[in-house]
Parts: sequence; C-alpha cells; structure tokens
Amino acid sequence: MRVLVTGGAGFIGSHLCRRLLEEGHEVLSVDNYFTGSRRNIQDLLSNPRFEVMRHDVTFPLYVEVDRIFNFACPASPVHYQRDPVQTTKTSVHGAINMLGLAKRTGARILQASTSEVYGDPECHPQTEDYWGRVNPIGIRSCYDEGKRCAETLFFDYHRQHALDIKVVRIFNTYGPGMQLHDGRVISNFIVQALLGENITIYGDGSQTRSFCFVSDLIEGVIGMMDSPVDLTGPVNLGNPAEYSIREIAETIIALCGSASKLTYMPLPQDDPRQRQPDITVARERLGWQPKVALEAGLLQTISYFREILETA
Ligand code: NAD
Ligand code: UDP
Ligand code: UDP
Repeated sequence: MRVLVTGGAGFIGSHLCRRLLEEGHEVLSVDNYFTGSRRNIQDLLSNPRFEVMRHDVTFPLYVEVDRIFNFACPASPVHYQRDPVQTTKTSVHGAINMLGLAKRTGARILQASTSEVYGDPECHPQTEDYWGRVNPIGIRSCYDEGKRCAETLFFDYHRQHALDIKVVRIFNTYGPGMQLHDGRVISNFIVQALLGENITIYGDGSQTRSFCFVSDLIEGVIGMMDSPVDLTGPVNLGNPAEYSIREIAETIIALCGSASKLTYMPLPQDDPRQRQPDITVARERLGWQPKVALEAGLLQTISYFREILETA
C-alpha cells in the first residue's frame, strides 16, 4: 500500500516509517522539521520505497495514498508552547487537511491523539469514556484542546462523510529517536545523568506518569490501523505501569551509574498530577499489550543517548 506518515521525521513517526517499510509498503514522510530531524530517517533514505517531502500540514496536500497516519505535531511541552498558535493550527488545520485528503482519496486515516485529552484527570486509571478535565485557556491548552478538536473533526468526518477513521490516545512514550533537547522527562533525565548534571525535578516529584517503550507503541498503532472497520476508537495505547517522577529520576541515575543529584524546580502550570492508561479496550479488541519493562526500555534509550552525546 501507499502510506502517508505526517510527522515522519519525528520520534514516533520515524519508527513508524521504518516499521511500514519492513512490511513492504511504499512510505511517504511529510514533515516540516519543527521538532523532527533528518538523522531519524537517515537509514531509510536508501530504500527505493521511501519518499520524503518537506511540507507543513497546515497547508493543503495533494498526494495519492491508501492510508494516512497523522502524527505531525510537536509533543513536548517545551516545544508545543514555543509557538502555541502554530501548535493549535497544526492539530486543527492539519487534521482538516488530512481528513480532506482522506475524503478525496478514500484512504483510511489514523489520528495520533493523546492522554492529554484527559487533562488533569479525576478518573484513575483513565478509560476511553472519561471526558477529561482540561483547562481551555492555560499554557497546555494549545496542545490539549488542539488534540481534542482534532478528535471532534475525525468523528464528524466519520459521521458526516463516512470516512474510515481510527483514533488512538497515546500515553507517554519514550525510546531511541528522541532529540537531545526534546525537553520531556525521560530524555532530560537521561541526558542530565549521563553528563553528571543535576536532575531537574519539577514540583516535588510525586506526580505520576506511565511510560511505554516505543516498539510496543508501534505494534499497537499498526494493530489499530489494521483493525476491523467498525473499530474507530478512541483506543488508549500505553503501558499501565505507573511511577512517580522521583522514582523515574532515581531509576535513571542508578541505570546510568551516575553521580547526579536531584534538584527541585517549580511545577509548570496545569501539570497533571497522575496518569495511567486503562488498556482493556486495546487488550480485548486488538489483542495488544506492552511487553517491554521500564528498565529494559530505559537501558536501550540510555545506550542511544550515550551514542548521540559522543557524536555531538
Ligand atoms: P516529535 O516532536 O518527535 O514529532 C513530531 C513531528 O511532527 C516532528 O518531526 C515535527 O517536525 C513534525 N511537525 C510538527 N508540526 C508540523 C507541521 N505543522 N507540519 C508537518 N510536520 C510537523 O513528537 P513525537 O513524540 O514523535 O509525537 C508524534 C505524535 O504522537 C504527535 O502527534 C504527538 O502529539 C503524539 N503523541 C506522542 C506522545 C509521546 O509520548 N511521545 C504521547 C501522546 C501523543
Ligand atoms: N485537502 C487537501 N488535500 C486533498 C483534499 C483536500 O489538503 O486531497 C484540504 C483542502 O484544502 C480542504 C480541506 O482539506 O480545505 C478539507 O477538505 P474538504 O473536502 O472536507 O472540504 P472543502 O474542500 O469542501 O472545504
Ligand atoms: N518533568 C520533570 N523534569 C523535567 C521534565 C519533566 O520533573 O526535566 C515532569 C513534568 O513536570 C511532568 C512529568 O515530568 O510532571 C512528565 O513530563 P513530560 O513533559 O515528559 O510529559 P507530560 O507532562 O506531557 O506528560
């Protein structure tokens, strides 16, 4: 099949491109390199079934494809807050353009939504039927509300134009391919630990997240794209093993054999207190569940960052 991956040079998008090429598909990566990098897809460039296009999804795109994975959007708070208006445009105008493309071509389209649609949740763990608690006017809103609006658009195009849609809500994912200056917690802590710098804990570190290794996430995303037409989602994809941010810092220091110390910084506005996916739907409908334990995933990520730091 001819498959379009928007955000194909990003962390998750590049793993997706690699995996789709392995399956024998023709893959078109569309990216404006806001947070992605050529390095992520360098090993794919020699594949004759791989094509790369520099393009911003907030502008219309006319290509002929059978499937669309819509992953274009900065995902780290540092980056999505740098140009918040562009972040909302990417989610909303980007979704409209990719849905318009799917409507014209008849392609099946999958949206990378996020656990952020649940905001700072009162329901724990989060199930797909929970509507969320999101501040509409805060510093995270450009991302959270942008993604919520994208979900709305997906379901309205499905109801109004009978589009074949899939929506996954991705929980915190990490692994090789993250940028050195990505700004999210796992990459920050590993880079700090490897450089012997202080580990920057925001708040008191008691807030929790549940971290999924990228290879597991990719299996879930592919499983969802290949699922029966009646399964539109949303479907949570994540690893239910939940840790406090302080535990994450201590584990990373130990695995790196680092002498770094913890330092405490102010908690950003609207930072969710807790997060854990309920993956019953993914288990039952996709037969999917994560396999990689935190320590094993962290060790692979640490080796990746060691190599990046050596070449940097
Ligand atoms: P990333 O920042 O590494 O990748 C995003 C990619 O999109 C980058 O290559 C960037 O250059 C590109 N991009 C941004 N704006 C664009 C635009 N307007 N036009 C074209 N390309 C654009 O982030 P990631 O972690 O790989 O996330 C990928 C997707 O998965 C995002 O949609 C994100 O919201 C979603 N997601 C990720 C996580 C996670 O934990 N990694 C969790 C939930 C959802
Ligand atoms: N679009 C696109 N590629 C296509 C078809 C449409 O980028 O192959 C864009 C187009 O710019 C339009 C948007 O998708 O603004 C939504 O398309 P739709 O057909 O839903 O709306 P309309 O064209 O009627 O405004
Ligand atoms: N965090 C932290 N130190 C950092 C980066 C992040 O303590 O250097 C915290 C952040 O405040 C949040 C958690 O780690 O509570 C996860 O942050 P991240 O940006 O990775 O993801 P998100 O908040 O979007 O889930």
